[in-house]
Amino acid sequence: MCGVVGVVLPDHGHEAAAVAATALFALQHRGQESAGIGVADEGHLMIYKDLGMVTQVLDERRIPSLKGDLAIAHCRYSTTGSTLWENAQPTLRLGPRRSIAVSHNGNLVNTRELLDQLQGGRARLPASTDTELLTALLADEPAADTVEALQKVLPRVRGAYSLVVLDERRVIGVRDPHGFRPLALGRIPPAGEEPGLWGDDTAGWILASETAALDTVGAEYVREVEPGEIVVLEPGREPWSVRYAEATPALCVFELIYFARPDSYLEGRNLYEARRRMGMELAKEHPVEADLVMPVPDTGGPAAAGYSEQSGIPYRDGFVRNRYSGRTFIQPSQAMRQRGVNVKLSPLRETIRGQRLIVVDDSIVRGTTTRQIIGLLRRAGAREVHVRISAPPIYHPCFYGIDTAVPKELLAATHSIEEIREFIGADTLGYLSVPGVLNAVDLPYDRFCFACFDGRYPEPVPYDVEARKFVLEEPAPAGSGQR
Ligand code: SF4
Repeated sequence: MCGVVGVVLPDHGHEAAAVAATALFALQHRGQESAGIGVADEGHLMIYKDLGMVTQVLDERRIPSLKGDLAIAHCRYSTTGSTLWENAQPTLRLGPRRSIAVSHNGNLVNTRELLDQLQGGRARLPASTDTELLTALLADEPAADTVEALQKVLPRVRGAYSLVVLDERRVIGVRDPHGFRPLALGRIPPAGEEPGLWGDDTAGWILASETAALDTVGAEYVREVEPGEIVVLEPGREPWSVRYAEATPALCVFELIYFARPDSYLEGRNLYEARRRMGMELAKEHPVEADLVMPVPDTGGPAAAGYSEQSGIPYRDGFVRNRYSGRTFIQPSQAMRQRGVNVKLSPLRETIRGQRLIVVDDSIVRGTTTRQIIGLLRRAGAREVHVRISAPPIYHPCFYGIDTAVPKELLAATHSIEEIREFIGADTLGYLSVPGVLNAVDLPYDRFCFACFDGRYPEPVPYDVEARKFVLEEPAPAGSGQR
């Protein structure tokens, strides 16, 4: 996952960092391990980053010291490299050829191969992320400028990357040729102007992982950066772009199902509406007699509303969620996941007692969270618990930036649907089908990556799956010729 932001805001008293931090705050759900900002002030680059949430790292005392008209920002959810200060982003390289800082959302699949290309494999990196490696390759590339360096390096890079790159005089947005991860471009209005009501005047430009971040800073959505496109933002100029690869779109469908905020837009679809329609499809595919439909907070809400609407069964909240706890799924360790559930959810006993419940969630990964939630409902007196999932079963791991677990931890990879039902303790269990997802979003299959559901990986994955996260922290396999 990860959230990325880039801002160009000239002549506004060094406000770029404040705007970038505010936009990043809207992307907090995309990564909670670390946060950081890079700024360029009169050609000098500087970054500030630390482990922790956006508001912990980028507080009001810190922002005024981050001067400049250009800024990039990042919040991290690790898929390559451990949760260490060194691995926080943006990365920074101050080099003889160019100085750059990089924020990256995604995960590369040919990291070892790229390491071999960097100084013949002899390079020592200050961090163990694929982003650090990519930053070093870009900084070292003999090329006239950063855009040319990107055009030379990126064709060798495989995997998922939505990048925001900062150099001495511009901010550059890039999406990989599949466009696995989103990246939106927006216009920042002159101060005092209402978004949508201003004319052609533009104070600056912004790139962000999700359109919700544009709304947060009052920016107007312009368009998505296209797969295989480089978009360049420079002070005093309209954005311009170059294409470095043909687009073969495969947007992560999980962004629509779960990851991105419901107020964001992807592929022209509002995600609350897309999820509500997934719930309607789910009710058509897996009807059941019951008294109430309830979501697993927070992300099951839109699909539960759709299920209720389609089935005519009333919608009711069954839990109070502690709004200050992080999302279970993106905490890094299994032990933390297991510990998290009771801290987060508290059942509403008067609503639950004696009722036949349809409980709607957006995924079952390891099954432990769902099992604990059903346990909470049973202890609160539920008569029946019917679980409905607004996505297909996850049979395969993700290599493109989502830490869905290794195959042996994926419940659906090793258990039948009936065994999963038994493990989680539900009376019945139903998953939405791939055609059901497509009906809900009204878009064709070939626009998306569905690999964790059907195993068709748009970008081949070359090496041992279980080693991928720590590929730059471990010695290369014997005889591989690699580090
Ligand atoms: S494998 Fe699954 S989670 Fe990963 S990019 Fe594809 S659809 Fe998204």
